[in-house]
Amino acid sequence: MTFQDQLNAIKSSAEVELNKVADLQGLETWERQYLGSKGELTALLKQLGSLTAEERPAAGRAANAVKVELTAEFEERRTTLAAAAADQHLVEDAVDVTLPGRPQIEGVAHPVSQMIRELSDIFALMGFQTVFGPEVETGRYNFDLLNIPSDHPARDVWDTMIIDSDHEEIVLRTHTSPMQARVMEQTNPPVRVIVPGRAYRYEAQDASHEWMFHQLEGLAVDETITLTDLKGVLQELARQLFGPRRRIRFRCDYFPFVEPGVDFAVDCAICDGKGCRVCKYSGWLEMGGAGMVHPSVLEGVGYDSERYTGFAFGLGVERLAMIRYGIPDIRVLFENDPRFLAQF
Ligand SMILES: [Zn+2]
Repeated sequence: MTFQDQLNAIKSSAEVELNKVADLQGLETWERQYLGSKGELTALLKQLGSLTAEERPAAGRAANAVKVELTAEFEERRTTLAAAAADQHLVEDAVDVTLPGRPQIEGVAHPVSQMIRELSDIFALMGFQTVFGPEVETGRYNFDLLNIPSDHPARDVWDTMIIDSDHEEIVLRTHTSPMQARVMEQTNPPVRVIVPGRAYRYEAQDASHEWMFHQLEGLAVDETITLTDLKGVLQELARQLFGPRRRIRFRCDYFPFVEPGVDFAVDCAICDGKGCRVCKYSGWLEMGGAGMVHPSVLEGVGYDSERYTGFAFGLGVERLAMIRYGIPDIRVLFENDPRFLAQF
């Protein structure tokens, strides 16, 4: 095979292969195979030396012309493939501006939070200020200042979750009542506050009990406060929350920090007082405890119990929300199921 024949063979094979190249990577391989320093064309050029002096100039020119031609075809192909790759990139990254946006999911306040806001509004109209207190408390505020000394049997009935008892007794507050003492220590009468917030008890869960729940504490202290004021305030609360049809009930009860003490119940709105699982078939739902502030509690914070009297009450916020919205089981309030929560 003559030099010219070999040159022609390389050229036609190179051109056929170049047409088959589909991407820039394939083009690189092609360049190495034909034009590279170890490529076929370079190998052929090295054979020029074996030709005769007459043959050499013409063969050299021909070989060079092929190299120039193939290089030009290579560059052209590279431009085409690069443009195609850029187009492909644009297609893959395309943004369809005509697509509608994803709707924002709007949250709503949790039914318990809604209840607390509503209660705060109702009590604000009766002159009560809303305050908040710590959920981790000392035994002094959670018990001692509420007339529950450490040797008192009542202290055992709170099913307390204790954080630390080595140095000072630190507990998760079992009620919002510790704020009674905290507020009174920092205020002179008259006092009118409500304290909404979480409380914790080591308690078995069922349809109406949770180990974490919300209470709303109320406290009023002044010179002429009597049990009648307490009844009036709670009656007004029931009227505002559930309308004139709901009845309320006071029964004697015992809490160490009030004297006398009552429990406060409203007739069950779920069964209309006929009896159901939530009201334990009694027709009544206990809202919480109340009573006249015990003189020892007033004296404990430095108030003159001869001059001042007061009432206090603690309401279960979840129970109020359950009656309000007809929720039969307290546990669904804290399962964080959006299908449930979105209904409010
Ligand atoms: Zn009922």
